[in-house]
Amino acid sequence: MTLTEKVLARAAGKASVQAGDNVWVNADVLMTHDVCGPGTIGVFKREFGANAKVWNPDGVVIIPDHYIFTADSLSNRNVDILREFARDQGLKYFYDVIDDPNGTWKFDAAKGSFARQFGARYAGVCHAALPEKGHTRPGEVLFGTDSHTCMAGAFNQFATGIGNTDAGFVMGTGKLLLKVPETMRFRLEGRLQPGVMAKDVILHVIGEIGFDGATYRAMQFDGPGVAGLSMDDRMTIANMAIEAGGKNGIFPFDARTAEYVEARTRLNGTRQAYEPVEADADQKCCYERVVDLDKLEPLVACHPDPGQRKTAKELGGMKLDRAYVGSCTGGKASDFVEFARVVRGRKVAIDTFGVPATPTIVRELQTTWWGDQTIWQILQDAGVRLTENAGCAACLGGPVDTFGRMNEAGLKCISATNRNFPGRMGSKESEVYLASPATVAASALAGKVTDPREYLS
Ligand code: SF4
Repeated sequence: MTLTEKVLARAAGKASVQAGDNVWVNADVLMTHDVCGPGTIGVFKREFGANAKVWNPDGVVIIPDHYIFTADSLSNRNVDILREFARDQGLKYFYDVIDDPNGTWKFDAAKGSFARQFGARYAGVCHAALPEKGHTRPGEVLFGTDSHTCMAGAFNQFATGIGNTDAGFVMGTGKLLLKVPETMRFRLEGRLQPGVMAKDVILHVIGEIGFDGATYRAMQFDGPGVAGLSMDDRMTIANMAIEAGGKNGIFPFDARTAEYVEARTRLNGTRQAYEPVEADADQKCCYERVVDLDKLEPLVACHPDPGQRKTAKELGGMKLDRAYVGSCTGGKASDFVEFARVVRGRKVAIDTFGVPATPTIVRELQTTWWGDQTIWQILQDAGVRLTENAGCAACLGGPVDTFGRMNEAGLKCISATNRNFPGRMGSKESEVYLASPATVAASALAGKVTDPREYLS
């Protein structure tokens, strides 16, 4: 069996499963957020009753993160619905925006977008917050009402996005009927070279198979090249499995996974026994491809979909209006570190927005010193507009007052985010070009698409 088949067989209580089997799978965690949470709660109450209780109050994790720092009252109301539900259900893992369990959330537009406007429990973007808070454990099954839930496959678990109706059902029963996906295997060999990042790995893969090339398939990344990838790198790669239509992305378990999971679960009190899975030597995959990490170059996925791959060099000279570093894919601490390495001591030439994925990352950037400056100061000195309000922000557009949103038609933005279908970051007439944080940084400095190796010594 493949990694995905191993996890699903165990979660279905079976000795083995194969691609195409329909099995009832037990969930370990169900995650939802402010966009889909109210809808999921509505389905749950309609189908199970107004006073019904969720199947496991410790298994439901609610993370408001999408339309948070906005004066839009309906968006603010969504967070209040989550709070009322978490209180009524006695949920332990509700990462509220405010500290008062009986309060209401209102973003204070007068205070502005830059300074922190959240309480002590707020966790930031769900997919970055889940591992940070120790909710991603090897061998487990994680369902989330968000397509990028597949990011948690970095931790050797089956993680996939589901709709509100399925999520309402999981909320009530802790189970879901799933067809076991076929597995596409990507064997990683070699090491990433300077200026090339994990984002380039996944842009390369999606460029090979197209934005629908893995539809309803598991994307398994294994091979000797995995050892050289950090957990942040693996998260970036697994996150974008959905951008090829994948059901999930998944990595093998190793000492790095164990170290990360142990540290985060201990810190947040989410430690529990887990059992990683290993693929069988005779696993059956529907596709196999070797990815030579040494040979990869900085890449860009052009408008209008994540499969439109070109090298940064090929696109060199294409003028840009804006740069954006942030999101679950490109707003991790390591992403900002690579970005800072490129812009340090220089000035960006175009509007450049920075949105860390979580408050912990904000703190890390504000307390990590390079010489006599923190990384945060280095970025600010370079002219990056950095907000402390960690969240999804303009990654998916959002209300018009969303930080970094592309409100004007015709803008071209290079972005460390993960999706670039028309209108993704705001105006339907704007264009988004996906790239690694290093390529976004170099392009922000030059005002045009630029290979980051031009700025790295
Ligand atoms: S940062 Fe973007 S991709 Fe990630 S969860 Fe938020 S909206 Fe989705």
